Amino acid sequence: ANHLFDALFAPLAGRGGDLLILPDGRRLNGAAFLDLVAGMARAMQALGVVKGDRVAVQVSKSPEALACYGAAVALGAVFLPLNTAYTPAEVAYFLGDARPRLFLCDGAKAVAMAPVAAQAGARLVVLNADGTGELADLATAATGDIRAEPCAPGDLAAILYTSGTTGRSKGAMLTHANLLSNAEVLVREWRFTPDDVLLHALPIFHTHGLFVASNVALLSGGAMIWLPGFDAGAVLRMLPAATVMMGVPTFYTRLLEEPGLTRDLVGHMRLFVSGSAPLLAETHEAWAARTGHRILERYGMTETNMNTSNPYEGERRAGTVGFPLPGVELRILAEGRDVPVGEVGMIEVRGPNVFAGYWQMPEKTAEELRADGWFITGDLGMRDGDGYVHIVGRAKDLVITGGYNVYPKEVELVLDEVPGVAESAVIGVPHPDFGEAVFAVLVARKGAGLEAEAVLAAIADRLARFKQPKAAVVVDSLPRNTMGKVQKNLLRDSYRGWFRQGGEI
Ligand code: ATP
Ligand code: MG
Repeated sequence: ANHLFDALFAPLAGRGGDLLILPDGRRLNGAAFLDLVAGMARAMQALGVVKGDRVAVQVSKSPEALACYGAAVALGAVFLPLNTAYTPAEVAYFLGDARPRLFLCDGAKAVAMAPVAAQAGARLVVLNADGTGELADLATAATGDIRAEPCAPGDLAAILYTSGTTGRSKGAMLTHANLLSNAEVLVREWRFTPDDVLLHALPIFHTHGLFVASNVALLSGGAMIWLPGFDAGAVLRMLPAATVMMGVPTFYTRLLEEPGLTRDLVGHMRLFVSGSAPLLAETHEAWAARTGHRILERYGMTETNMNTSNPYEGERRAGTVGFPLPGVELRILAEGRDVPVGEVGMIEVRGPNVFAGYWQMPEKTAEELRADGWFITGDLGMRDGDGYVHIVGRAKDLVITGGYNVYPKEVELVLDEVPGVAESAVIGVPHPDFGEAVFAVLVARKGAGLEAEAVLAAIADRLARFKQPKAAVVVDSLPRNTMGKVQKNLLRDSYRGWFRQGGEI
């Protein structure tokens, strides 16, 4: 038996119903997709892939790209997706770290990536966005059935690198059981059935689009509208055919800018889910007012898939990530003890979803994954009186100024309410008197003139003095990575000299 393949992919053999619906109108049923998986598996086998080998994949999102995931799992190989935005220098790091047997990439990048793959001892194989390329050729040339390699629940299914929001990306080792247990829970919690059609506009090199979204759809027997990326116009066109959408907060803010987003357009929808970054309460409320749907916010991470979810039935509380999923334990600690309701501490989780450690980083693994199974997430959170979990920010982003703790998110929420402020990021910047000083980076609303001094004056009576930014700047946009997360490490680098150099950068 192959723990993950038998649950997610093998059952597709008997499915005549749609699995993938493409924007150009093409449709693939389960059986046709499984043929694609088998072809890719034969091709990989012909290239020498055996159980335990890493298969690194940096290709455009396509049915074939998803089939590569199934193929790697079938062979007992370790699927290793890479962000399509990574440059050759970045890819060099990941390939050097993971030492994959194969590196699949788009033909357009093959020349630039060839030396990088060679350096890491990986065979570069082309797979283009339209499904053509050497891998596809091999898939048609090699014949014969593919029998899934036996894999135990504890065998590795994937290495997924973290988003690199707080520092260098780490390779999280995920087992067959990690992935399947989470998918099973989500299908139940979110009431997925074979009638569901998931609008899938997320990238598939990240836990959200690959494991949360795709695994749930595969396991439930439903279909996916398979968009190559997020495009508000395409999403609006396809929504009438969908029942569920999963997205990151920027999907929702961008869709709210579209006049075409109406109650009528989405009245038939069953569920909208948001995760990967905080969804502002303002966005949650604006979406509810406009569409009549309350977005279900949930919280997860590369190392653990999904930890918490707002309830499917019952109140979806804006600004919170809901409750731990069944089977997942969550605790919030400060100085080694559970914090009382309303107080902030570090979130730890334990359960079948928790990863097996960081690839080739035993010290880092030992630091963050306790021997008794608790994973120290690095996120700060609290529980409210009803048990809803609130994410307050990341421990690394906590600002300690003159001995006081300041949670950037609390300050950002106040700044964001000032008229003319579109968004803000609060960071700690070295300061000669306070150690660190609270510092705000502001983005103006379209067409609004914004004066940093005026914004600071506007919030002066809304926050204790130590929480108020000592200085602020107005910029055009915040640096974000491809998952829409603000890269505060880059902001800290940009402004670290501010108070030493008298405010001139
Ligand atoms: P790195 O670990 O490399 O610094 P990263 O933590 O951003 O990067 P991911 O695993 O993609 O990499 O992201 C997980 C993190 O995203 C969580 O630890 C949490 O900080 C944040 N996150 C996810 N969902 C939510 C949410 N609903 N609200 C707030 N934050 C969220
Ligand atoms: Mg992280």
